[in-house]
Amino acid sequence: MIAILKPNTTPEQRDHLINWLKGQGLIVHISEGHDYTVLGLVGDTSHIDVELLQSLDIVQSVKSVSEPFKQCNRKFHPDDTIIELGGGVKIGGGNFCMIAGPCSVENHDQIIEVAQAVKFAGANVLRGGAFKPRTSPYDFQGLKAEGLDLLAEAKKVTGMPIISEIMNVNHLELFENVDIIQVGARNCQNFDLLRELGRSNKPVLIKRGLANTLKELLMSAEYVMAGGNENIILCERGIRTFETYTRNTLDLSAVTVLHELSHLPVVVDPSHATGAARYVRSMAVAAAAAGADGLMIEVHNDPIHAMCDGAQSVKPAEFAEIAACVQRVREAVMQ
Ligand code: PEP
Ligand code: MN
Repeated sequence: MIAILKPNTTPEQRDHLINWLKGQGLIVHISEGHDYTVLGLVGDTSHIDVELLQSLDIVQSVKSVSEPFKQCNRKFHPDDTIIELGGGVKIGGGNFCMIAGPCSVENHDQIIEVAQAVKFAGANVLRGGAFKPRTSPYDFQGLKAEGLDLLAEAKKVTGMPIISEIMNVNHLELFENVDIIQVGARNCQNFDLLRELGRSNKPVLIKRGLANTLKELLMSAEYVMAGGNENIILCERGIRTFETYTRNTLDLSAVTVLHELSHLPVVVDPSHATGAARYVRSMAVAAAAAGADGLMIEVHNDPIHAMCDGAQSVKPAEFAEIAACVQRVREAVMQ
């Protein structure tokens, strides 16, 4: 349920109402807009006297939120959420974020070289997997804690915030230096992991599961938010369909639909969506045109010898071209 307050409500009147609602056992989320205040009410609202609430002088309207996702719902929070990272980098609300880097951190020289190259080309967040969810147990599983240390070193060298995927709740303390914790597509509905991340205050990027609906993705965000962590970024990375020419099928309509339903920023990953480096540019540009708040692109200095996802990794020079093209498209679309 949401209660929209009238523009001339004083802070005292507002706090008085909030205290009364809290006294009814509800959690109250306050969203201050330009000329309105929205109170999002979470909990058992069945015993709230809606007519009484509606009749109060300071209340403009009361609406029920029928969707099962509440805190990530745009009705709860009409303005876009802006996630702030170190170094002045922001995502959402018109702040576009270019996340780039290798699928996995392989060694010191590789991650430093790629980090410097993508930064020079305009990336503002460095990616690099340390714990890799691989289909085969015999494939490279990532450098684990050592990979996170190397990524942290690249952060020190370049000043770029870093993002890396977590696979196990017990590894959370290893991610202290990581600026955004990534929940991969395979863990989109790992509810224990999501709940634990709700107790952290670090930004969390949740990738849409291979066969998850947008409602399910939003419910995953809700799990983290229900624990008190509101710094969530949603990521569309393609879904499983009957098509086989691409690794997955990029659902670009997800950007528009998620923006309508939720205030959370939406990032698109054209690398995992297509599985082929030659398709990344057009899908990156299309995602930017569709209004994505950012892109996540796999970049490798030597894709042929990459230990993971070389076929979909672009080289730094190509990334620079993509970044420039995305910038031009964003300017054209924003006019
Ligand atoms: C990744 O980004 O490294 C990754 C494994 O992606 P996804 O979870 O989307 O498959
Ligand atoms: Mn990958």
